[in-house]
Amino acid sequence: MRSWERPAVPSLAALGHGTAERPSVHDVRRDGRAVLPTGPVASMYTCGITPYDATHLGHAFTYLAFDTLTRVWLDAGLEVRTAMNSTDVDDPLLERAARDGVDWRELAQSQQQLFRDDMAALRILPPDSWVAVTERIAPIADAVRRMLDTGDAYALPVEGDEGRVDVLFDTTRQRQFRMGAGSRTDDAEMLELTREFGGDPDRPGKRSPLDPLLWRAERPGEPAWESPLGRGRPGWHVECTVIAMAELGAPFTVAAGGRDLRFPHQEMQGHHALALGAPMFSEARLNAGLVAFEGEKMSKSRGNLVLVSRLREQGARPAALRLALLDHHWREDWEWTAPQLARAEARLDRWLAWAATPPDDPSLDDSVVPWLRVTLHDDLNTPAALQAVDAFIERAPADEGSLAAIDALLGIDLRSRAVEL
Ligand SMILES: [Zn+2]
Repeated sequence: MRSWERPAVPSLAALGHGTAERPSVHDVRRDGRAVLPTGPVASMYTCGITPYDATHLGHAFTYLAFDTLTRVWLDAGLEVRTAMNSTDVDDPLLERAARDGVDWRELAQSQQQLFRDDMAALRILPPDSWVAVTERIAPIADAVRRMLDTGDAYALPVEGDEGRVDVLFDTTRQRQFRMGAGSRTDDAEMLELTREFGGDPDRPGKRSPLDPLLWRAERPGEPAWESPLGRGRPGWHVECTVIAMAELGAPFTVAAGGRDLRFPHQEMQGHHALALGAPMFSEARLNAGLVAFEGEKMSKSRGNLVLVSRLREQGARPAALRLALLDHHWREDWEWTAPQLARAEARLDRWLAWAATPPDDPSLDDSVVPWLRVTLHDDLNTPAALQAVDAFIERAPADEGSLAAIDALLGIDLRSRAVEL
């Protein structure tokens, strides 16, 4: 589906700064750093939104983290390929549409448009492919059928209607499925998370309580599509697995998402991929930290959402929002407070004043480029990068390389009129 307008990314190499090294980033599975990518192409699949309650600051923080990684990869001269999904049919979306008395398709489309507008305002680079699950029903159904053929999946009759069957993934079959091995989660926690994410661990007939749904047979009043599995719709994890493998091939470099997706969502994707013949789904798995508000994790279920669109309506400049978010390390869990935005607005004003001042001594050969590169290559340390710019503007006039680097790596174009809005 259509994504959003791509902001220009200046080339620092073209300005004589050479190309950067590949970054070292924290991989959840290694539980340590990895220099990525190991091959010539950098590819990333990012778990997208379920389109309702878009775009809260938790979303924005996650997508900004992986936008930063994309920008660092581009600066390293790499070919970068990115893909993302939109879970435009799923239980929470249907529940919200029913609650509000709107058609689920209209809800999804209006929220996807809001997300586009917010991402474009924040100058987040769009994925090369943004794919809605409703665009890929047939290939997902085909993947589920293949898992049934290999015995990695099994049919479970729908209670009260023996004629229809759901299809579940058999986690007991994969010897590689060592309870949480990839996500460092213990059994009790996995059970709890399975329940929290709608995995129905107590459903009778499951081979393991952790087995996730691959295909949900049609229920009265729910959307459903024809398929060789009968009428129904795909499960959440297999949706991302099939879209990522189709768009990027496996293994791709990075599977990215918020830390709340670590289990079961990202864990199951790796196991689904294995069942579909890909021994490795991705080289690394990256999890962004979670954003809290008023003492609790920002989430739809808790209703404590701070929306990007609301802050923009209230006059927050998107570049200041970017600075407020970049002032937290991408893996950090943190809490949003209003003074953080005020500090970011003030910082943006200082940077703009610096950018607008003609250099005292044009012969001065200094630039913030190496400082931005060294901080960002160190596990995308954006708070340190912002401090490096703060320190630099105190001692040196604005130069073309620094302005281009702040744009290319931090996504803030201080030379554009738009940044003032
Ligand atoms: Zn996903």
